[in-house]
Amino acid sequence: LEMLLTAVSLAVAAVPEALPAVVTISLALGAAAMVKQNALVRRLPAVETLGSVTYICSDKTGTLTLNRMTVESVWTPDGDTPALVHAVAACNDAEVSDDGEGQGDPTEVALVVYARDAPVGEAGSLPPRPPRVAEIPFDSERRRMLTVHQVAGTDASAPAGRPAYVAYAKGAPEALLQRCALSEDERREVDDQAQAMAASGLRELAAARRDLAQVPDELDEVEEAMTLLGLVGMLDPPRPEARDAVAECRTAGIVPVMITGDHPDTAHAIAERVGVAEHDHVAGDVLTGRDLVELDDDALSGRVLDARVYARVDPAQKIRIVSALQAEGQVAAMTGDGVNDAPALRQADIGVAMGKGGTDVARGASAMVLLDDNFATIVSAVREGRRIYDNIRRFVKYTLTSNAGEIWVMFLGPFLGFPLPLLPLQILWINLVTDGLPGLALAREPAEPTVMRRPPRPPDESIFAHGVTWHIGWVGLLIGGVSLAGLGWAYSSGAENWQTAVFTVLVLAQLGHSLAVRSETAPSFGRRFFSNPALLGAVVLTIGLQAIVVYVPWFQDIFRTQGLTTQQLGVCVGLALVVPLAVEIEKLLVRRGLLYDRVRSG
Ligand code: ADP
Ligand code: MG
Repeated sequence: LEMLLTAVSLAVAAVPEALPAVVTISLALGAAAMVKQNALVRRLPAVETLGSVTYICSDKTGTLTLNRMTVESVWTPDGDTPALVHAVAACNDAEVSDDGEGQGDPTEVALVVYARDAPVGEAGSLPPRPPRVAEIPFDSERRRMLTVHQVAGTDASAPAGRPAYVAYAKGAPEALLQRCALSEDERREVDDQAQAMAASGLRELAAARRDLAQVPDELDEVEEAMTLLGLVGMLDPPRPEARDAVAECRTAGIVPVMITGDHPDTAHAIAERVGVAEHDHVAGDVLTGRDLVELDDDALSGRVLDARVYARVDPAQKIRIVSALQAEGQVAAMTGDGVNDAPALRQADIGVAMGKGGTDVARGASAMVLLDDNFATIVSAVREGRRIYDNIRRFVKYTLTSNAGEIWVMFLGPFLGFPLPLLPLQILWINLVTDGLPGLALAREPAEPTVMRRPPRPPDESIFAHGVTWHIGWVGLLIGGVSLAGLGWAYSSGAENWQTAVFTVLVLAQLGHSLAVRSETAPSFGRRFFSNPALLGAVVLTIGLQAIVVYVPWFQDIFRTQGLTTQQLGVCVGLALVVPLAVEIEKLLVRRGLLYDRVRSG
């Protein structure tokens, strides 16, 4: 019976039964911490994947920029600003209240605000919107919007020959100009103007009109031979925190990439401001939607690692960018907010949806939602993901080392001629309580200072990489060794309570190890000592529990322990201290680059 119980308890000792629970708890605690930083994780395993991300493909508008647009410059071919103002105000779905609060697409809000304050008609009042009779709404693929209005004062009885309707269109110049009647010279002039606006980082939009006698059945027939009314350039300032977040990506070995429907020059100007594009315009670092159409998958693979900005891209093309990155072995996060973004979000390793501006479809397809739509939040989520993975590694390292120590004690004891060192109940106690509490507390360890200064973890890298296996091997043997030394010393001095001595050395050695294992390289007993109050609490609590088991008579009966004398306790503590000391020496050697492969900490 004794052998059977011992075998069962050893089996319990060997199996890291808390591992699934600790992994889940760590991920869940991590997700709870992340939501406080505005990153809502929808799929728990994504927390782990975040630590491996190598490319973050982010929308420009609203994520890297504030999405607070103001009209900065206006150009008209013939100085007729009022006509342009009327067009952009009518071909528009935004509402702006008197105190300036806008509702709707920020692009359109900016236009309404501009139209309200523009020097046409009465200042401070919006030109009245003529009744709308038909429309083609804006979408990111057509990149333009068309509305048809009834002209004021006309109805069915209007005199023949007077146009009853007017159509207004607004949209990206590339999408609209080809639908306007323009001479060669006019065309060149508009292109120059548009170019200049884009180069200074303005988001640009053209507007056009056309008179209609009646509304055709096929509305897009309206979109030809239109009269160009002018160009509007809007400023959407970069988010102030974007620059630092981009820089942090760099040191963390992550490549930030910008994706937008805007003009390539607009995009590049903003990319330069936030640091996504290197200052010198390197050929090949901007790809357009048209380039994507022309490049086949092989050719795209050759460009995708160097591209930093994708401009005039429609959402449907995002999936090709993600797939090309993945084909190159990269781990890609991709943001999106629209319905068309959903396939790319699903394909990405981490699909990131917008919580403020996004659609439900995009959120449903995502692994993570940014509650503040902010690029910097993705970077903090990556930092958190890396911390959590580190802590799971710490836990695995700690638990398996402890288990190894217990097994060595039980296995080697009889070989060295001692009686069976521990009783089944003592093994279970060690496993559940003195191992378990500090193990759980390791999940609360704060991030190492170097966490964003090392390259991403290869997704297929084993959790045992970088010396974890060696550590478990030799520290486990050392824990077993000092415990058996305690046993040998007590046994040979004829003490009756030799078993309590092994029991205590083993527990204390493991507690010391839990403190030392907190960092893979940094010393645990200096500045870092108070970094994790939960762990210190767990260690103190565990020491208290162990004291109760050893000294309180009622527990002594259950656990078959006998109180230790002060001298015995001193020897036990001394032996146990060997373990954290040895681990600190290991870390010293690792810092000097003499042990294991330290590529990770960079
Ligand atoms: P992104 O979301 O990357 O900023 P969009 O697809 O929203 O890209 O916009 C692409 C282009 O479409 C803009 O540069 C602008 O010229 C035009 N555009 C954007 N919003 C509207 C709109 N509401 N109406 C008409 N044109 C628009
Ligand atoms: Mg947009």
